Amino acid sequence: MELTQLKGIGKTTAEKLEQLGIRDVMDLLFHLPLRYEDKTKITAIDDLQGFSHAQVEGEITHSYVTQGRRPILVCEIDDGSGNMQLKFFNFYYSQKIKMRAGLKVRAFGEVRHGMYGMEIIHPEFSLGEDQPPLAETLTPIYPKSEGVSQKLLQKAAAQAIQLLQAGAFELDELLPAQWLSAQQLPTLKAALIQVHTPPPELNVNQLMTMSHPAQIRLKIEEILAHFLAMHQARTAIQQHQAVAMPISEADHQAMLERLPFELTGAQQRVVAEIHQDLAKPMPMQRLVQGDVGSGKTVVAALAIQAALRAGKQAVMMAPTEILAEQHLLTMRDYFPQEQLVFLSGKIKGQERAEALTAIAGQGNIIIGTHALFQTEVVYRDLALVIIDEQHRFGVHQRLQLKHKGKQHDQLPHNLIMTATPIPRTLAQIAYANLDVSVIDELPPNRKVINTVLLENSKMPQLAERIRSACQRGEQAYWVCTLIEESEHLRAKAAQDTFDELTASFPDLKVGLIHGRQKADEKQLVMDRFKANEIHLLVATTVIEVGVDVPNASLMVIDNAERLGLSQLHQLRGRVGRGNRQSHCVLMYQAPLSENAQIRLQTMRSTNDGFEIARQDLKLRGPGEILGTRQKGSMEFRFSNPEQDAQLFQQAKILAADLMKDNPEVCERIIQRWQHQAGELAKV
Ligand code: ADP
Ligand code: MG
Repeated sequence: MELTQLKGIGKTTAEKLEQLGIRDVMDLLFHLPLRYEDKTKITAIDDLQGFSHAQVEGEITHSYVTQGRRPILVCEIDDGSGNMQLKFFNFYYSQKIKMRAGLKVRAFGEVRHGMYGMEIIHPEFSLGEDQPPLAETLTPIYPKSEGVSQKLLQKAAAQAIQLLQAGAFELDELLPAQWLSAQQLPTLKAALIQVHTPPPELNVNQLMTMSHPAQIRLKIEEILAHFLAMHQARTAIQQHQAVAMPISEADHQAMLERLPFELTGAQQRVVAEIHQDLAKPMPMQRLVQGDVGSGKTVVAALAIQAALRAGKQAVMMAPTEILAEQHLLTMRDYFPQEQLVFLSGKIKGQERAEALTAIAGQGNIIIGTHALFQTEVVYRDLALVIIDEQHRFGVHQRLQLKHKGKQHDQLPHNLIMTATPIPRTLAQIAYANLDVSVIDELPPNRKVINTVLLENSKMPQLAERIRSACQRGEQAYWVCTLIEESEHLRAKAAQDTFDELTASFPDLKVGLIHGRQKADEKQLVMDRFKANEIHLLVATTVIEVGVDVPNASLMVIDNAERLGLSQLHQLRGRVGRGNRQSHCVLMYQAPLSENAQIRLQTMRSTNDGFEIARQDLKLRGPGEILGTRQKGSMEFRFSNPEQDAQLFQQAKILAADLMKDNPEVCERIIQRWQHQAGELAKV
C-alpha cells in the first residue's frame, strides 16, 4: 500500500520517508519504536528523580531572562509539592511574554539536577487551565531522520496500525504457530499493534526495557532473518565448484621442516582444518581468528603451499601497504623458489605493467593491498584468496576479489584472517556464514608484556629506560598518535617527535616511519630496523598491524588515551614477539576521561585479547567493534547482540528447524526483513 494513501503524507514527505528505508505502509509497520515516553501520568515535583523523563504540571511563579552573552529564559514552577525550573536556551521574546506568572503549565522532558533544584531543559510544554486529558498509552518514539518530524512518524504509524486492524492489507504469519504458543509469544500482527500503539494495561516497565513479549516476538524474527540470510549466502557459494587441492603428507612435512620453529598445537589444528577444506571441490569459507602474535602468517603460508602444489595461484591481501610489504618479505623466506608478485596503489608505470603481466602469467603468490581487485587485474588461475585483517575492508571489496577467480562457475577458496578477537557470542552472529577456526595459543616462551602508565610530564624517567634498553642491544618503538584526519599532519607530528628524540639521544640511531613516505623508503627503514641498525623507531600508527621485529622489546605510545582498546592492543602486539621480557609504556595527558581511564587500566591489567575485546564491547557496543558502523553490515535495528544473547541462541535453533522443514518460509522471512538483515549476509 502506498504511503501517500495515508492522511498527512504527500509526495515530498513520502520521499523523505524513503530515505529512512520506508517505501510503503508495510515498511512503516516495521519501522519500530526505539523507546517510549510515558505521558500517562503527572509526577509530583517532590518525587522527581534526575536523569529520567517525566511529566510535571504546576503554576508559573516567576519567569525571567538571564543577563549575559547567551540569554536563557527561565520559568520557575510550583505544584504544591515543590518547585523547579524550566529552561530555554533558544526562545522568542513572544514566548517569554506568554509564559507569565500565574499561568498553569504542563511540561515533559528529561529531568536533571540544576543549580537551584530540579530542572528540565527545553521541555515540551502546553500552557493554560484546560490541559488535554493525559495520554492513555505510552508514546512510541521512532528513529527519525532529517525532515521527518516525530509527530509525523507517530501519526503515520498509528494510521498504518488502524489499517492493519481493519484488514486493509494482509500480513502473513511466518513463524510456526506451535512454536509461538510454546514460547508464549504473540503473533506478528498482535505484536506490531502492541509495540506501535501499546494499550494502557500493557506492562510499562517491560516495554520500556524492550523486554515485552511483543518486542521479543519482533526481535526473534529479526534475528531469525539475519541467520537465514547468512545461511542463504553460504549455501549460494556452496553451489559453486572450487578446485580440490589436497596436499600430500610428504609435501606438507617438507614445508614444516623448512620452518624455523615448530607449529603450536593450535596452529596445527587450524592448518589441518584448512587443508581439509581445500581438499574439497567446494569453496572454503573460513575465518581464522587469532590474537596478535599468535602466528597467523605461517598458517596462511601452509594454505598457500596447497595451492602451489596444485599448480594454482594464491593471493594474499592486506589492508595497508606496510603490512603487505611485510607479508611479501615473510613469504619470500618461506617460498624462495616461487615467483612472488607485489601490487599496491603505489606501484605505477612500468613496474605496474610488469606486475600485471606476472599476475596474468607465471606469478603464483600474489601479495598486495586492495589494488589487487581492480578490474584491470586479471589472474591466470586464482584458486585461493587470503585476506588479512578483514575488518578493515568494506564488504564490497571482498566481494569483488572473490569474483576475480570466478571461472567456469568455479570460485576460489576463501580464507579470512583477523586479529580482532571478538567475543565468541558475537562471532557466531557476525560470521554465521563462515566456518571459524581459532588460534587460541601463543607460540612458546612468550613473556607477558609488562604495561605501565606514565603521565606525559614524567617523560624524563622514560628517557633513561629507552637508553638502557637500547644499550643492552634491544630495540624500541615510539608511536605518535595524532587524531588528525590528515596523513600530512600525522607525518609532521611524527617528524617533530623524531627531531626531538634524535636530539635527546645523540648516542642512539633513531629512525622514522610514516604513511607519507614512499614504499621503498618505508621498506628501507623497516629493513634497517629489522637488522638492528635503527635502535629507536618513531612511527605513526601505520605500524599498527603486522610489523614483526622480534628483537623490539619496548614500546612507547604517546597520548595513548586517544586510542581505542583494540588499536592499543594491536600496537602493543608489536613487542613481546621474541623471548625476552618486553615493556609497553602508555603515556597520557591528565586529566583522563572516565572512559579513557577504563581503557588504560584494562591495558595495564591484561594481555588477553579476548578479555580486551569484552571490555571494548562494553565500552563501544557491537556495531563499532566489528568496524561496520558505516558499512551497515551488522545492524540490528531492534535487537542487541549483547543484551539479547539468549534470543540469538533461540533464533539459531529455530532457523535450523525452519531451513529443514520449510525453505519457502525462510525465503519470505529474509525478504521481509531485508533492510535489517544487513549487507554482510550478501557477501
Ligand atoms: P600474527 O598472528 O599477529 O599475524 P605472526 O604471524 O606475525 O602473528 O607471528 C608472530 C611471530 O611469531 C613471528 O615472528 C613468527 O615468526 C613467530 N611464530 C609464529 N608461529 C610460531 C611458533 N609456532 N613458534 C615460534 N614462533 C612462532
Ligand atoms: Mg599478522
